[in-house]
Amino acid sequence: MLSSQKTCDEELLEALVKEISGESAYEVVKVLLNANKEITDEEIANKLNMLLNAVRKVLYRMYEERLASYRRTRDANTGWFIYYWKIRPDKVREAVIRRKREVYLRLSERLKFEKENMLFHCGNPNCQRLTFDEAMETEFKCPNCGEKLKYQDNTESIRVLEEKLQELEAELRELEKRCEESLLERSVLESY
Ligand SMILES: [Zn+2]
Repeated sequence: MLSSQKTCDEELLEALVKEISGESAYEVVKVLLNANKEITDEEIANKLNMLLNAVRKVLYRMYEERLASYRRTRDANTGWFIYYWKIRPDKVREAVIRRKREVYLRLSERLKFEKENMLFHCGNPNCQRLTFDEAMETEFKCPNCGEKLKYQDNTESIRVLEEKLQELEAELRELEKRCEESLLERSVLESY
């Protein structure tokens, strides 16, 4: 049970890391996963033959997403700080949920805008749509190409946005449910 749980989180972690930081970032994460203990940025750079700065960039990005944590000590000889890093696959679902919630919020704002505004467009795909107030100001001429602005029925945009929001809502519910289940599992296991 525990090992399949781990694999599931690690799969999710792989997808998320690749999405936010690319393939080479996942190489860094893989070293951390395989190490199974704290490891310094220098050790990772040596293992991957990668620039130390590039490794650090990935690590801080992971830290921002709360997927990695570090412990800092001072080297007694050099006086420099040494950072020991750890990857947190157990935090991946929370990170995915957080990101999806952000997308959800952005799309909700878009939907509100589409519903509350009459929109005008010249028909040129390179030009922006304008709200009624904006179109009034330019006397219903496109400020970009000068063509006449026409009312644009945005029923389809609204429908697409509503559909996407429903999908996201379902995904979030599913993830939150699984998140709670895995927390429950963990607490049961830990109580033995
Ligand atoms: Zn135009």
